[in-house]
Amino acid sequence: MDYREVETTSEYVCRLDHGRDWRAQIEDFADEQGIDAAFFQGLGAVEDAEIYFYDQDEQAYDAVTFPEPLEVAACVGNVSELDGERFAHTHAVLSRPDGTAIAGHLNSATVFAGELHLRAFDTDLVREHDETTDLDLWEL
Ligand code: ZN
Repeated sequence: MDYREVETTSEYVCRLDHGRDWRAQIEDFADEQGIDAAFFQGLGAVEDAEIYFYDQDEQAYDAVTFPEPLEVAACVGNVSELDGERFAHTHAVLSRPDGTAIAGHLNSATVFAGELHLRAFDTDLVREHDETTDLDLWEL
């Protein structure tokens, strides 16, 4: 395991804008605040969602779209740099009216309402290509 000790520089509570993309708003906020490394958690509801699942054998993402209202029962993620831009790596557990859940790597979702807690760190985190997994992982 590689690691780096970090210090929290600031924490924010945020209300996401209705009708805008969940992940893009986090990236825009990080750009505005100059945040290069952060972890966040959130909850709320979305009007639709696109989830990615990483096929470990194929080493490729499969996308699944859910064009329906969903609760964001839990969302967790982090902010780091990918290809020179801030990237909000976002995972979510989304629930349907009957209480069943879908979950995964959240690529996009239209916000109905959302609340976020974000903790920013005094470092930068940069993703580099990893040969073993074919993913872009932190260089620590
Ligand atoms: Zn992911």
